[in-house]
Amino acid sequence: MLRKLVVVGVGLIGGSFALALKAAGAVDHVVGVGRRTGTLERAHAMGIIDAIGALEAPTLSDADLVLVSVPVAQTNAVLAALAPHLGASTLVTDAGSTKQDVVAAARTALGARLGRFIPGHPIAGTEHSGPEAAFAELFRGRNVVLTPLEENSAADVARVRRAWESCGARVQEMGVADHDQILAAVSHLPHLLAYALVDHVASRPGGERFMSFAAGGFRDFTRIASSHPEMWRDICIANRATLLAELDGYCTTLQAMRAKLDRGDAAALQALFEQARGARNRWLEQSGS
Ligand code: NAP
Repeated sequence: MLRKLVVVGVGLIGGSFALALKAAGAVDHVVGVGRRTGTLERAHAMGIIDAIGALEAPTLSDADLVLVSVPVAQTNAVLAALAPHLGASTLVTDAGSTKQDVVAAARTALGARLGRFIPGHPIAGTEHSGPEAAFAELFRGRNVVLTPLEENSAADVARVRRAWESCGARVQEMGVADHDQILAAVSHLPHLLAYALVDHVASRPGGERFMSFAAGGFRDFTRIASSHPEMWRDICIANRATLLAELDGYCTTLQAMRAKLDRGDAAALQALFEQARGARNRWLEQSGS
């Protein structure tokens, strides 16, 4: 049970965390901190947060938990601003989609308070953003990854774990490099490809006419190209070395597919499609999707 939660960045993820904890009866009071006043006022009017605060002592010194859920390039500035005002028992966690850069930012910004920062990443989201997109069920049955630091105490990691479990999430722990490698393949690369495909079709002469004939396949493949550009810019730049390696591997796969197509090798194409369909169907079954 949290007496006071501070959410820095009350958008899809921060807003959903607040709503989920409220729905579970796991928090008494939620204070939102943000960039634009208008966003915070909307979140307040929607009942996501109970009050609007600032990265200052009155907001932070008696908080049990602070969730930083801003685009990852903002992490350093936010942590540096909140560090001097943390209370003796205040823990800080984050929702950032990349972890090596976030942990590096925390090491710089938090100094001696680093042990109070437990890095995290909910593997759940939608292509929508802002407080209007937030909903209490977002994390139910979904994975949340914590990448604890050697400076963290087991008791503090357990407190953050319990908060996410109260939201209905399954919590797993892994190392930062492992996290960024896996997420580059299954999340960051697909977003890059979705943006690229839309651009490839839409930016040609007569692109609008092409788009007007697009249907379910194009819609499904490109849904995530509606995601927040600032957020995805930051993720791609933060994880660029790993993402570049994934992109190169994908280009190799495409080149191999291109060669099969070029020589009209129907059997090889079908074998590849069957192998991929099998892998996707097994994943759907295992994940209950
Ligand atoms: P979002 O809906 O766009 O919300 C981000 C919020 O952060 C906005 O309200 C924004 O305020 C605020 N913000 C930006 N810079 C700030 C700053 N310097 N100080 C205070 N507030 C600031 O984005 P989101 O989807 O919730 O993503 C938040 C974090 O979760 C990101 O790190 C992202 O990588 C991670 N994440 C996202 C997903 C996903 O699918 N969306 C999934 C897992 C993790 P304004 O309204 O004023 O711009």
